[in-house]
Amino acid sequence: IWEKIRQELKAKIGHNNYTTWIEPLKFEAFSGDSLSFRVQSNFMGNWVDRYFRDAICREAAAFGITVTRLSFIVEKGVSADAAAVAKPSPKVADATTPVAIRPDRSPSKPAAVDSLRLDENQTFDTFVVGKPNELAHAAARRVADGGPVTFNPLFLYGGVGLGKTHLMHAIAWELQARNPAARVLYISAEVFMYRFIQALREKDMMGFKELFRSVDVLMVDDIKFIAGKDNTQEEFFHTFNALVDQKKQIILSSDAAPGDIDGLEKRIVSRLNSGLVIDIHPTSYELRLGILQRKEEIFANQFPGARIADGVMEFLAHRITQNVRELEGAMTRLFAHSSFLGREVDVNMAQEFLYDLLKDADRKVTIDEIQRKVADHYTIRVSDLLSHKRNRVFARPRQVAMFLAKEMTDRSLPEIARKFGGRDHTTIMYGVRRVEQLIDSDQGIAEDVDLLRRALKAQ
Ligand code: ADP
Ligand code: MG
Repeated sequence: IWEKIRQELKAKIGHNNYTTWIEPLKFEAFSGDSLSFRVQSNFMGNWVDRYFRDAICREAAAFGITVTRLSFIVEKGVSADAAAVAKPSPKVADATTPVAIRPDRSPSKPAAVDSLRLDENQTFDTFVVGKPNELAHAAARRVADGGPVTFNPLFLYGGVGLGKTHLMHAIAWELQARNPAARVLYISAEVFMYRFIQALREKDMMGFKELFRSVDVLMVDDIKFIAGKDNTQEEFFHTFNALVDQKKQIILSSDAAPGDIDGLEKRIVSRLNSGLVIDIHPTSYELRLGILQRKEEIFANQFPGARIADGVMEFLAHRITQNVRELEGAMTRLFAHSSFLGREVDVNMAQEFLYDLLKDADRKVTIDEIQRKVADHYTIRVSDLLSHKRNRVFARPRQVAMFLAKEMTDRSLPEIARKFGGRDHTTIMYGVRRVEQLIDSDQGIAEDVDLLRRALKAQ
């Protein structure tokens, strides 16, 4: 039976996935609702379980067999820890724990904040500068020079994974290196709130105030967390003012500009805006490639023997565009695969190993974008595309757009129908089918669709 399931899988999950993951599985037994296999490493088993269990269960079901679990017996006892390396937990303190860099030469000072390492990889040295982040980088450097305070606060904002926390850690490292006696406190807004509540509960507001008002530099990450929490905001406001009065540097980060943070008090917004507010822009292709190249060496050390073919980094920079953390995740995965499997990873394999990440990237295409691109391509107006005009000049592009909307987004037919001028969803279904047929019979349409698909993915 495994043989049959295997043959079905072969056709469905792609050649590389098949030869890498499914072929090496040695069928052991089928009992109850569980299939068991012998594998060479934990890593293999975990991977198959995570990414192919659904497919295997589905194929088994097609043969009338109910499988809900897979189990794996590691053959040679290889790499029990390999699986752990494959999904490395971030070394980053990630602002959930406060990081206090204090020489603690003054034992009289309250030690209410746990001391924790900053991530040693997050320094100015490892921060790659490009157009989208050059202002933020320059401002961070200025603050890290430790000269007199010229703007207060420094407020960094930008989308998730664009380097805000990295820059804050870098500032902290630099300040510490320049002046080991400086009291630099890096904390997330969440922890700020947590400490505040704790102080209230333990009736130790004095200690709380003393701690936060005795620092030389205060960094609060993800400030929007205190929005809407009235008492915490109030306390933050007072802390903020006290430090500004003493000319102590404050650095804050958020995913939105001060005025765009829902629930943040007006007076706080206006204080934040009186400092230097800098926006970190989404990454450009060049910046992403630069970051990947910088990290390549680090990864090569972490995963001995890993070999990544030419063009793979470019492929990643091209396809994973939202977030630097995801880029790093993709890299980790490819290096791990190559190292554990002892094979060079090329673009084709990368595409399959990363299919879940890439699918996410594809899903970012919106119906609006599709409509715009299609209208452009056929040099018609979007309003005509959405209209009910039956003229072929409009009807064909309209169907192509419907087809792409179905294929490239995860919207349902009724949702797509609504986006196409409130048509009936059966019209959409008809359009999608029509284009499917045309792709097989009409070279011109097939090329149009292919071109549009690639243009949309490349955005
Ligand atoms: P944010 O705090 O903005 O959500 P992070 O600072 O945590 O993002 O960055 C996410 C990951 O991406 C981190 O591992 C960070 O080191 C990395 N990163 C982001 N921008 C850069 C950059 N310009 N150069 C090098 N690494 C970067
Ligand atoms: Mg962050």
